Amino acid sequence: MIENSLVVLNSLSGKKEDFEPLNPGYVGMYVCGPTVYSNVHLGNCRTFISFDVIYRYLRHLGYKVRYVRNITDAGHLENDADSGEDRIAKKARIENIEPMEVVQHYTVDFHQILEKFNTLPPSIEPTATGHIVEQIEFIKKIFDAGFAYEINGSVYFDVLKYNQTHHYGKLSRRKIEELIHNTRSLEGQSEKKNPQDFALWKKAEPQHIMRWPSPWSDGFPGWHLECTAMSTKYLGDSFDIHGGGLDLKFPHHECEIAQAQSVHINPPVKYWLHANMLTLNGKKMSKSTGNNILPMDIFTGNNDKFSKPYSPEVVRFFMLQAHYTSVLDISEEALDASEKGYQKLMDAVNRLTKINPGKKAGAFNHEQWQKKCYAAMNDDFNSPVLIAHLFEAVKFINRVVNKDHPIDESQLEILNKMLSTFIHDILGIAPMQKSSSSKEEILHKTIALLIELRNNARNDKDFKTSDRIRDQLLEFGIQLKDGKEGTHFTLN
Ligand code: AMP
Ligand code: ZN
Repeated sequence: MIENSLVVLNSLSGKKEDFEPLNPGYVGMYVCGPTVYSNVHLGNCRTFISFDVIYRYLRHLGYKVRYVRNITDAGHLENDADSGEDRIAKKARIENIEPMEVVQHYTVDFHQILEKFNTLPPSIEPTATGHIVEQIEFIKKIFDAGFAYEINGSVYFDVLKYNQTHHYGKLSRRKIEELIHNTRSLEGQSEKKNPQDFALWKKAEPQHIMRWPSPWSDGFPGWHLECTAMSTKYLGDSFDIHGGGLDLKFPHHECEIAQAQSVHINPPVKYWLHANMLTLNGKKMSKSTGNNILPMDIFTGNNDKFSKPYSPEVVRFFMLQAHYTSVLDISEEALDASEKGYQKLMDAVNRLTKINPGKKAGAFNHEQWQKKCYAAMNDDFNSPVLIAHLFEAVKFINRVVNKDHPIDESQLEILNKMLSTFIHDILGIAPMQKSSSSKEEILHKTIALLIELRNNARNDKDFKTSDRIRDQLLEFGIQLKDGKEGTHFTLN
């Protein structure tokens, strides 16, 4: 194991803490996965890429990591609370297909997109529907501990009772009085004793298709429960790292803590890590508001937000140029700058392989540099600072190439090894050639070219050619749409 002094920002204490896993040499890490009712947007990807770097670095340090990331395929209601329709069931109803078809479709999409971003698969990827039995058993334990109550076949967690002996709100630093003050009771609309209580089990309405038998009713588990049931099943009652996007801190993660602590698991998690949000036009990317962009639309350029496509490597590099705990806004300008940076970095890596060392060392303290790179990553996975150090090496390499500086064997070896380790293994930035285009990408790029030719023809008033391109594409099932932001297409 590499000597390290890793510190992580623990959301629970709000402080940077030395990272010391519960079992030396081993790390258990659970990250909340996607709710598979629509395509993952780029914001979701940022969180998963952030934890991919954390996973990669822990492995690099020599830890044996068990990384569990779930798939939410039931129980996540529309408004994140205890009312509204199940997101997956709703999509299935609208599209007139089976809920499991929705789940399969978007799980496959999720995997394909994350693979394009060169993320490593988790060690275990459990699903909520595959762990109904464990969730029911967990509810029974909460009942036994006296913190659950049943009303009309649904079971709720009694937050106020729990708070008499525990602190509900310790993660998000909220006080129960504030929560009571801030939640309006929807009189008559809710059967819960108190609006702060949350569902552990919901009785299914007759039309609800996703349902399982339980001691209380035919129904389905509450959203917060799956993560508690699955994390403890695969990582043990107490484990090292629990991650997710910052927007999950409250109520989702707060409820997870309450569920675990109510059955005497204390503490359930040693380090809570939260990844900050990706924003677009200064606002959080989100599925529900429509303020988002799909990764595939960035890779192909088929979108009305940016004037050209960006490769998955460039987008990943762009994300890692910000610390995972900072908000990051995406813009064409920022992506262009990342594209240039990525290119420069890759060029230097390629050039390095062609350099022959001499006897004399150049003015570059490679040992010091290596230490600084590790210090950056040891400081709560500070990828932007690491990247800044990588560019110091780039500067040196370029000088060597221009014959302004010599380089000796030891410098060359360390640079070769460390650049490859930091760029490819730890940051997970694939070399350029790995970015082979899929058939879909090739098709999108071809259509983009035809759109450009059509626009040129129109500008030249050559309407015969421009109409021909449009009509012919339509015959192939490709419809062009002209808008203020340019021409886009849909595939029928
Ligand atoms: P969901 O599928 O909505 O449950 O979200 C999956 C993951 O993406 C969760 O960890 C969210 O916190 C995270 N997430 C959602 N929106 C964003 C965003 N705009 N930026 C970063 N992460 C996000
Ligand atoms: Zn979760």
